[in-house]
Amino acid sequence: MEQTAAILTDAHQRVIRYLRISVTDRCNLRCRYCMPPEGVPDLRHEDILRYEELLRCARVAVTLGIRKVRITGGEPLVRKGLVPFIGHLAEIRGIDDLALTTNGTLLREYAPALKAAGLRRVNISLDTLQRDRYSHITRRDALPAVLDGIAAAREAGLRPIKINVVVMRGVNDDEILDFARLTLNDPLIVRFIELMPMGQGEWNGSGDFLSGEEVLTRLNASFSLREAAENLDPASANRLYRLDGATGQVGIITPLSHHFCRLCNRLRITPDGCLRTCLFSETETDLKPVLRGGGSDEDLAAVFRRSVRDKPTGHGRVAGVWRKCNSNMSRLGG
Ligand code: SAM
Ligand code: SF4
Repeated sequence: MEQTAAILTDAHQRVIRYLRISVTDRCNLRCRYCMPPEGVPDLRHEDILRYEELLRCARVAVTLGIRKVRITGGEPLVRKGLVPFIGHLAEIRGIDDLALTTNGTLLREYAPALKAAGLRRVNISLDTLQRDRYSHITRRDALPAVLDGIAAAREAGLRPIKINVVVMRGVNDDEILDFARLTLNDPLIVRFIELMPMGQGEWNGSGDFLSGEEVLTRLNASFSLREAAENLDPASANRLYRLDGATGQVGIITPLSHHFCRLCNRLRITPDGCLRTCLFSETETDLKPVLRGGGSDEDLAAVFRRSVRDKPTGHGRVAGVWRKCNSNMSRLGG
């Protein structure tokens, strides 16, 4: 397809540059905020897009101006064939930034192959450094595997390594300083994320919630923080800081207390081939009729453009007014 299609711009003049592809709804953990103990009902196998269909979507998206692609899930590394898929994505000219979000449990096995396939960097989700607590939050005793996975990512040369910590009051908020200390002598970027009420995740009401501002207040009380130059990027969802003398960085991501909708440049594809222009809006456009019904790339591009045109201005959720999103995070990919 020629690179002539108009770039993706919504009705509010937001230019869409960032595509998140969720390749599976399956996962080997059962994080409480994401799913119930038994997991969520699996999508039907035949509804899940094949890799070649996802690659076609990515190629068309690049002609429309997408420059950053993130692979997520469920746990993306439980889907067979992910490494060659990443390899094919890495070959698409126009993708400047290719990244993966993972729970880290399988990185020891896959990090070298991912790097060789062309993956640049990983975000690893880790909410606690304590083994019992990890087993409680994720319902699996996998902390040693994740720590080893982080080491494997480092050894493989995936950089930077970002650690995503969902902060929950009374569950892991006493570890904020421990996580921040990790950045003193290691070029890690540790980002504290606000808990969101999603799908079938366990949610004990707003009592679990702890805002990004409160994280910053606690960090400021113990360390001297400097704002990072990266904060100048207006489309960035996080605010980054450096502890005095630290090699790495800390950050906060505040989807609820201080949302970044005005600058949102994201688009999501779910494993079953639905385009979603806002994490919290239930409105989706199914790409399968075009993908599987003989539609051309231009037809596909037209669906992308139509869908983006109607991207909601904002999600209207604020900290303290808890409206749950019906969709499961394991399908949307975060
Ligand atoms: N399984 C991979 C992982 O955990 O990194 C990728 C998918 S997971 C759905 C993506 C991100 O969403 C993770 O960082 C996870 O912590 C976050 N997440 C899931 N449910 C959440 C919730 N209710 N509130 C905030 N973050 C959530
Ligand atoms: Fe799996 Fe990620 Fe959901 Fe945890 S947050 S259950 S690792 S998909």
